[in-house]
Amino acid sequence: MSPDYPRQAADAARTLAELDAQLVRCRACPRLVAWREETALVKRPAFLDWQYWGRPVPGFGPEDAAMVITGLAPAAHGGNRTGRMFTGDRAGDLLFATLYELGLASQATATSPDDGLELYGVRVTAPVHCAPPANRPTPEERDTCRPWLARELQLLSSTMRSVVVLGGFGWQAAQAALEEAGWRLPRPRPAFGHGRRMTVTPVNGEGPPLTVFACYHVSQRNVFTRRLTPEMLRQVLAEAAHTAGLSTERPNQT
Ligand code: SF4
Repeated sequence: MSPDYPRQAADAARTLAELDAQLVRCRACPRLVAWREETALVKRPAFLDWQYWGRPVPGFGPEDAAMVITGLAPAAHGGNRTGRMFTGDRAGDLLFATLYELGLASQATATSPDDGLELYGVRVTAPVHCAPPANRPTPEERDTCRPWLARELQLLSSTMRSVVVLGGFGWQAAQAALEEAGWRLPRPRPAFGHGRRMTVTPVNGEGPPLTVFACYHVSQRNVFTRRLTPEMLRQVLAEAAHTAGLSTERPNQT
């Protein structure tokens, strides 16, 4: 498959459904294609009875999301197994529990694509859509995959008001995708730092500004070492939700 496929297919997509349908066919990065498929064949002992997805993992959440959360890439035995972002891995455990606590998800857990989970006004995605070895895509793979996220952000632009970027890799990748998607970024570009935020505006002057929040990644390591505590995550997600005009009270909360 041509390395130009992501750009050509993403640019041609008129809806997120079209974008996702083209994305899952992508084989533009030979190393990542080999890794995702090998992982899907070999599996982890705990998941031997699973039919791994083993393909690019599309974003998850409504097409009119007001808030976007973007991380790094699917986990080999998480999203690469289940076919849904942050589903079936430890990073997703904290993320979805916190979204549920804030009234932004229908349930606190994400285990499989048919577990009934719904997100309210929130879409989760990534700058690299295939699981990379050691969770480390190369700069070339990051750049090859960028058109998918850039187009996803463009297609969400009429409703999207905030973006939460998880981790330093995601921060760099998201800034490049936002720029490619038509937003003007501050110069020099702000360095990553937990809790940092920046406002970006459309280059063409049409449309409202977008607030971008930086947050430590919800990786198992960051959570285990308490670099990122549940309260730190809750605070960033709540601020981003309020910026996006989303309610953070669950219907059954008093
Ligand atoms: Fe395609 Fe992105 Fe996967 Fe590379 S990482 S094969 S560009 S979906």
